[in-house]
Parts: sequence; C-alpha cells; structure tokens
Amino acid sequence: MSTATEKKVERKEFQSTGKMKAVMGKYFTELTQGPEQGKKTAWCTSVGPAELLRALGFNVFFPENHGAMLGASRMATDLIPLANAKGFSPDICSYLTSDIGSYLKGESPLQKMKLPGPPKADVLVFNTNQCRDVKDWFQFYAREWDVPCLGIHSPVGELSEPMIEDVAKQTEALVEPLEEVAGVKLDIDKLREIIDLSRQCTMLWKQVLESAAHRPAPITFFDGTIQMGPAVVLRGTQDAVDYYKLLVDELNQRVANDEAAVEGERFRIYWEGMPIWGKLRDLSTQFMQLQTCVVASTYCNSWIFEDLDPADPFRSMARAYGSIFICRSDDFKELYLQEMFEKFQIDGIVYHDAKTCPNNSNCRYQLPQRLAERTGKPYLIINGDLNDLRLYSEEQTRTNIEAFVEQLAGT
Ligand code: SF4
Repeated sequence: MSTATEKKVERKEFQSTGKMKAVMGKYFTELTQGPEQGKKTAWCTSVGPAELLRALGFNVFFPENHGAMLGASRMATDLIPLANAKGFSPDICSYLTSDIGSYLKGESPLQKMKLPGPPKADVLVFNTNQCRDVKDWFQFYAREWDVPCLGIHSPVGELSEPMIEDVAKQTEALVEPLEEVAGVKLDIDKLREIIDLSRQCTMLWKQVLESAAHRPAPITFFDGTIQMGPAVVLRGTQDAVDYYKLLVDELNQRVANDEAAVEGERFRIYWEGMPIWGKLRDLSTQFMQLQTCVVASTYCNSWIFEDLDPADPFRSMARAYGSIFICRSDDFKELYLQEMFEKFQIDGIVYHDAKTCPNNSNCRYQLPQRLAERTGKPYLIINGDLNDLRLYSEEQTRTNIEAFVEQLAGT
C-alpha cells in the first residue's frame, strides 16, 4: 500500500446539509403521516410523472429512493434473499429485491427516523423509460394490496416527434383513473405551477453539478449522491427550490475561494453507472486519499430535466423523461460522455458494471473501448452492484482503483 493511501482524510461537510436533512425529514414525516390525515399515496418510479401526481394532491413516494436507503444503510444484503425465496431472481434489480425483502420483513431505514416505514400505496405509477423491472416491482404491490398499477410504456433510443406524441397521450390517459383514486379533478394551472417548480429545481441542480467543472472541484460525486435527495423526492416543490438556492450559494463561495472538495486534487474522474450504495463512504475515502476527485457522473446528471415546460405540460414531460441517458442510443451516450470529459476536464473514467442493473451498466457493449479511442482517456471497469454487496469484491476494487490512479500519474 502506498503512503498516499495511508493518509487520514476527512470529507468536507457542506453547511447547507443541516437544512437538507430538515427538508428530507419533513418530506418523510409528511409522507408517512399523510394516510392518517386522509391523504392518498401514489408510488412513483424515479422518472415517472411525479408532477402530475403532486398536482392531484397525492403523497408521492419513490421506492427507488427507499432502495437506495436500504443499500446505503447496508440493510439490503440481508433482505434480498427474502425476495429471492419468494421467486424474485437474485439476478434482477437489487432495489426491487431489497425493497420487497424490506416489505416482507417489515424493516426499513425509515424506522431509524422513528417513522413507521413506507406508506401503503393507493395507486402505483411507473414509467418503463429506465427498465422493465419497475413495472414488475409495482405489480407485486398492486397484487398484494389490490390497488391499481398504471403506467407509461416508453420507447428506447432517440425520440422522434410521433414517439413524444405517443408518450404524452399515454400520460394524459392516466389523468382520469388517477382523478378517480385521488377523488379530485386535475387543475391544469396547478400542474403548470408544479412543472415550473420542477424545472427550477432541475436548473439549480444542474448548477450544483456544474460547479465541479471548476478546478479544484468544490463538490464530488459522493457528495452529489447525498445532495441529490431533494431533486429526487421533492421535485415540483418550493422546498427543493429553496434548498438548492442555498447550496448553489455555498458552492459559489467555495469556487470563489478555490476551496477543494478533495485536498490537493491531482486527478479528475468521471463515474459511469450506478453508485455502490453500501460502499460510498469507503470509496470516497479511498479517492480522497489518492487525491483524486470524482467530479461528475451520469447518475447525478440523470435528475436534470431541462425540457420541462409549464406552457406545454404533457408533451414537455414526455420529452424530458424520454431523453434521460439510460434510454438513449449508444451513439448518443458516446458523444455525451465525450462532452462531459471536456466540460469537467476528465483524466479517466470508472465504469461500474452493476450485476443486477444491466440497464444502467454501459460497459457491456464496447462503449469504454470506443470512448477511449475517441478521447485517449483511460478507463477502469469495477464489477459490483448497487445494493447487493455479495457481488462486490472490496479488495479487488481497492487494488484496481489504486493501480488506475497510478496509471493516470504515469500518463
Ligand atoms: S434502472 Fe436498474 S436500478 Fe433502476 S430500477 Fe431499473 S434495474 Fe433497478
């Protein structure tokens, strides 16, 4: 082990984080207390029509966020086998298997916040833009609770106008059955207002992430996975907008002072693929010790929805949610990553090949080789998983990262 890896390092906290914890705490408290107050609950996939659900007055719960909490708290590895025993393969999405395992065992990280756990759904609404697993996941609960499961079936690849039209129509077709569950009629002005807030949130989140284009970067990918909470579960609310204004101010201050997130930043890395939730702290520490900053990632960028437009609610939702990286063509992905390399002055890229999420593992069809040829930048592939730590080898990963950074030092 080199001396660099023995160095003791501390992650630099953001002053704003206290406010973020309060905002997230309020969201989870309202979410779990909502049913007692007569509020209906809708479960929504991460890139589902959350704005529409909010406009209809639903409590909106995002099970993928719960999946990430199960991963980060390392509860997932023990819970996944319970879902496997019920017929969900160990090879499918480990957010799905850990969440269903959590339901079967009645254990959730929300209980550590003295909350009862995820609220039961009155309706589940998916969008297959990211994968088919979300639909199967939601259908399990729909059968379990005998509640409706509605959804949007999105095309994969580059969007054409007729495709956008089709997805917009599918989204509009959700309105009537959702009104029935909600017991209220959709107020289109309310929807426009929420889309406007969502767009404001998106643009602020983009500013947060783009601050890392500065050298030294004031924020890392690992900070981003924490700071993205409000963008994930509170888009379309004033709370999220207010929070990111605060964080952007703090980042501007860090940039003005050349305050580095990683002391003595030597190298700048791009993270491609899902986070390894249960190992974020360890990975963050290792990269800091190597004076290497993971400055950008596709994962955190996936909550930037610039196409949202209050003037054209349904079509703009279709365009925004159909343009996310995960459902684009490989040609687009290659060009996009090249652009990110230039914007963030990237020295190398780490691909996470997540065993249970082929949808978000972009190293399986020669993309790393093509991109390396195009840019001349080296890459490393890490084998692991988002939640199932049985699929991750700590020692091998540590050694590979160390060797990769040494390789960067030699280039
Ligand atoms: S994209 Fe991957 S991690 Fe997300 S729900 Fe689908 S399979 Fe799971």
